[in-house]
Amino acid sequence: MAETLLNVLSQSSLQDYADCARRFQLRYLERLQYPALESEPALENEKHQREGEYFHRLILQHFIGIPADKLAPLANTPDLQRWWDNFLGTDFKFSGYTKNAEFTLSAPLESFRVVAKYDLIAVKPDPDGKAMIFDWKTYRKRPSNEWLATRWQTRVYRALLVQAGANLNHGIPFQPEQIEMTYWFADFPSEPAAFPYNATLFKRDWDALTKMAQEIKSASDFPKTDDRQKCSYCPYRGYCDRGVRAAEGENIETETAAEEMFDINFEQIGEIAF
Ligand code: SF4
Repeated sequence: MAETLLNVLSQSSLQDYADCARRFQLRYLERLQYPALESEPALENEKHQREGEYFHRLILQHFIGIPADKLAPLANTPDLQRWWDNFLGTDFKFSGYTKNAEFTLSAPLESFRVVAKYDLIAVKPDPDGKAMIFDWKTYRKRPSNEWLATRWQTRVYRALLVQAGANLNHGIPFQPEQIEMTYWFADFPSEPAAFPYNATLFKRDWDALTKMAQEIKSASDFPKTDDRQKCSYCPYRGYCDRGVRAAEGENIETETAAEEMFDINFEQIGEIAF
């Protein structure tokens, strides 16, 4: 691997590596900033992303106990108001669950650590209880379940909770069958996407993560993707001679790419205390 201090992998960096090794190299090894607009129209998308961030903060404040009537005035744009009303109007069936919001887990993965920050892990406090992972999405389109199932976020979040979640379960690791991950869409509140887990899927995911970590560690070459579609929303187009103009931000690839710009970027934090 190129000279680098990279020692942490996340769903974002793994997804980048899977999508385009060159993008992984530019973003996480060479640590280049975002030189090109991800998508057009830029201002509108940036506003949407910031509202999405703000919405996550509102939900966090809700889970740490700030009353809904105190938070309502903070939902002060039409999008935020609609999302907030949808959130408060949804029965997530949390009764009897302990809620851990904005919770970070990590585990060794070959010579790296794999890290994830969960929007919410809700745990039924009994050893055979369920652990429900929730991720709030503010996409303008509801992606297909098939697409979501293949995302590294879906695979990493469930696998890492098995591998590193014992502290949330009386010191006993969760069995994969106890875990379910749900994406809840703020604009499609009655169409969540739920992904149960099992031992076969866990083995598939952890084996694949291990293989990818080994590959990243030993890689000397980070080729550009052959799929030029991926370049149309990629901020590194200028480095790759893959066009200047950004794609219109109406497909799910542009939405996720843009969202990840605002994720905590674990790889760029440097040292993390574990
Ligand atoms: S522009 Fe295309 S080839 Fe270059 S990093 Fe982005 S996705 Fe990869």
